[in-house]
Amino acid sequence: MIFVIIYVFALGLTLGSFYNVVGLRVPANQSIITPPSHCPSCGRRLTILDLVPVFSYLFLRGRCRTCHSKISPIYPTSEAVNGFLFVFSFLHATSIAEMLCGWLLVSLLMIVLVSDLDYMLIPDKLLLFFLPLFAVFRIVYPTDPWWDAPAGLVAGFALLALIALISRGGMGGGDVKLFAIMGLLVGIKTIILGFFLSAFFGAIIGMIGMLFGMIKRRQPIPFVPFIALGMLTSYFFGDQLIAFYLDLIF
Ligand SMILES: [Zn+2]
Repeated sequence: MIFVIIYVFALGLTLGSFYNVVGLRVPANQSIITPPSHCPSCGRRLTILDLVPVFSYLFLRGRCRTCHSKISPIYPTSEAVNGFLFVFSFLHATSIAEMLCGWLLVSLLMIVLVSDLDYMLIPDKLLLFFLPLFAVFRIVYPTDPWWDAPAGLVAGFALLALIALISRGGMGGGDVKLFAIMGLLVGIKTIILGFFLSAFFGAIIGMIGMLFGMIKRRQPIPFVPFIALGMLTSYFFGDQLIAFYLDLIF
């Protein structure tokens, strides 16, 4: 078992490192294959040794081997988080379908997260890649009942479109599409709870940020970190949360 976990963790780290490349390059309209990864300051090509996720960053203390310019800690952090989330999905799942579903959700969120943190946008191209992937996944592994997946898509779209209308642009079109395709993957209950948890985490952390002067009023902040937090909480702990909440009021 421990070897399987190590293997899954390594898979998560390696994919996480690839997701960084995708999240960084796709919004800038660059190819994800060429040129090979290089230092953004001096252009030095990264060797196999530099590409070992997380460990190379720790070993080089976060600096380029040649020009010693700093490398953003976003990348090793998202690699490590992806590794842990892959292991968690694996341990949490009771079937292959559930494990794959967790990995797909984590993958989409990690790529969109890197893109949002670097550019404050969710590129359509990324979403258009995941939409058919999720659709095929739900044909091969249908939800129970089968209409839960299309209902999730409609609910994710409708809920966010409504908020976008009310807030007059406070919520972007990227968020609407993101919730629609996540809804297709996770179904109606998880997407609705995920939305409310995202808003809840956003409000709490935003208030703490303003209280300590770290965020100014009206300052645009990336929202995907809260979406990721809310969706993963809903996906992994939704049933417990709902049971706990019902216990509280009845
Ligand atoms: Zn360099």
